[in-house]
Amino acid sequence: MQFTKLRLSGFKSFVDATELVIEPGMTGVVGPNGCGKSNLVEALRWAMGETSAKSMRGREMDDVIFAGSSDRPSRNVADVTLYLNNDERKAPAMFNDLEEIEVTRRIDRGSGSTYRVNGKEVRARDVQLLFADAATGAHSTALVSQGRIGALINAKPADRRSLLEEAAGITGLHSRRHEAELR
Ligand code: ATP
Ligand code: MG
Repeated sequence: MQFTKLRLSGFKSFVDATELVIEPGMTGVVGPNGCGKSNLVEALRWAMGETSAKSMRGREMDDVIFAGSSDRPSRNVADVTLYLNNDERKAPAMFNDLEEIEVTRRIDRGSGSTYRVNGKEVRARDVQLLFADAATGAHSTALVSQGRIGALINAKPADRRSLLEEAAGITGLHSRRHEAELR
C-alpha cells in the first residue's frame, strides 16, 4: 500500500493545516535544523497507531499537540490523516473494499486519541493491524528514527544482539525457553 498524502493540523510544530503529497518513488525532506523533518516522520508513526509517547520524544501523548510559541497560543487538538492507495487490495478484509484509505488519528488534550478510517470510527487496534499486516510483505513499512544507526554502531555487543533478535522476531523465544527451564 502506497502512502499518497499526509495531512497534519495542530501536530507538534505544524500548527496550521499542512498537506504533503507523496509521489511514488523516493521522497526527501530537507530543511534547517529544527524545521520539523523528524516531526513529519513522527506524524506518520503516530497515525499508524504508535502508543509510546517516548518514541514521539514526549513525556505524555498530549505533548504531540502544538504547545504554543511566542506569537501563537497552544492548541487543544491535533490530527493527522494518512492517505493510502489500496489499488492492489492488500488491506485487511475490514478495509479491503476501499480504493483509497484515509486513516485519521485525533487527540484532544486530556482525553486521548480517536481513530477514523474513511470517516468511520475504528479502534486503535484496527489501525495497528492495518499496518502490521502490510508489514509482512516485501514492501513493509520500516521507520528508523534519527540517531538509531549511530546508537546501533556504538552499542555494546549484547545490546546489539538483542536489537537483531527483535528485528528477527525471536525475542519471545528466550522468555519461553526461560519459562521451560524453570519447569
Ligand atoms: P534536525 O535537523 O535537527 O533533526 P528537524 O527538522 O528534524 O531537526 P524536528 O525535531 O522535527 O526538527 O522539530 C523540532 C521542532 O519542533 C522544535 O523547534 C520544537 O520546538 C518543535 N516542536 C516539537 N514539539 C512541539 C509541540 N508540541 N509544539 C510546538 N512545537 C513543537
Ligand atoms: Mg530531525
